[in-house]
Amino acid sequence: MRGKKVVGRSKPLFVRKNDTVLILSGEDRGKQGKVLKVFPSKRQIIIEGVNFIKRHTRPSQKNPKGGIVEKEGPINFSNVMVVCSKCGEPTRVGAKIITDGSRLRACKKCGEIIQAA
Ligand SMILES: [Zn+2]
Repeated sequence: MRGKKVVGRSKPLFVRKNDTVLILSGEDRGKQGKVLKVFPSKRQIIIEGVNFIKRHTRPSQKNPKGGIVEKEGPINFSNVMVVCSKCGEPTRVGAKIITDGSRLRACKKCGEIIQAA
């Protein structure tokens, strides 16, 4: 064991866009939502309906008045668990190598391949 230090690169990112994830911490703990955006370099994701933050915006064409806009804010990968589309359980995701060499994600509970919707 080498303590808690995690080397960023060695850990594959298991969350993909359009996955359903369960929030494990913070104000939205226990909520589930769809992944809208993934920022691999920051190890952050944006989840639909989760972690709303208020943003002050300047007037723009889209929003001529400007003002305060509520928007989903990014949260860290480590605060979510992928929900398996097959068994419906939040699960750890394992890697499965198939015959052509590609790596797929698999549910550690039911063994099903997890595909992003
Ligand atoms: Zn499953």
